[in-house]
Amino acid sequence: MKKLQNETLQRFVDIFVQELKRENDNREYHETKKLNIPFILSSLHQSFSNNPGSYKEFISDLGMYPDYNIEIEDSKNDYDGIIDVEISLIKYQDGDYNYYRDYDSPSYNYEICFSYDERNWGYCECTPDMEDYREDKKCCGHGCDASFCSFSLHKINHIVSDSWHGDEHDYWDFEDEFYMDDKELADKKNKEETERKIRELQKRISADSKKLAELTSDFPVDVDEELDKYKKTIEFMKKIGI
Ligand SMILES: [Zn+2]
Ligand SMILES: [Zn+2]
Repeated sequence: MKKLQNETLQRFVDIFVQELKRENDNREYHETKKLNIPFILSSLHQSFSNNPGSYKEFISDLGMYPDYNIEIEDSKNDYDGIIDVEISLIKYQDGDYNYYRDYDSPSYNYEICFSYDERNWGYCECTPDMEDYREDKKCCGHGCDASFCSFSLHKINHIVSDSWHGDEHDYWDFEDEFYMDDKELADKKNKEETERKIRELQKRISADSKKLAELTSDFPVDVDEELDKYKKTIEFMKKIGI
């Protein structure tokens, strides 16, 4: 594979491949499906090589934060997704990775999403006599069904990180106000809560009556009436369909 002219992009490719290998070691350990490293790298590398001008901003940010961290994650967005790669920009002040306190990190990161690009060009009917036929692939690789890797590079701006200010009681006020405005959701919530309570009561009653039946088996005459009441309750529950 030819080295990229841009050193920053080449360094990124090297670190990315390292990370893909590490991910595959991890997948081997967990006995899950491994990533096809050249497949994933192919289109990105081709694009880096053909259109370095499109990556000016990316190159400049990687240069400013050379201690960036690459993390491989399961694909979140696309149905055809392979992996998402999170690139956290960071620069350690003294170049020492052990001093986590002294670092610079911008309010943005990068993400590359990799997906399958299926090309339904036609069922392969290649034969060994055809030009460019590859014995190992059993195909000449021109115009047959094929799968490639597509990607999209995102720059992600972090606008704000915040949480609830106040205690739980304040939060409950917010919750109440919300349900005041959305009666439909409030009704749904109340109905679900009532159903849950009924189910719980039903369970408790049937457990209690079973216990009662066990205890009263020695004194059948004394508590027959009580047992009858429980049975009636259960029958009622069944009748209203819960
Ligand atoms: Zn995406
Ligand atoms: Zn073919």
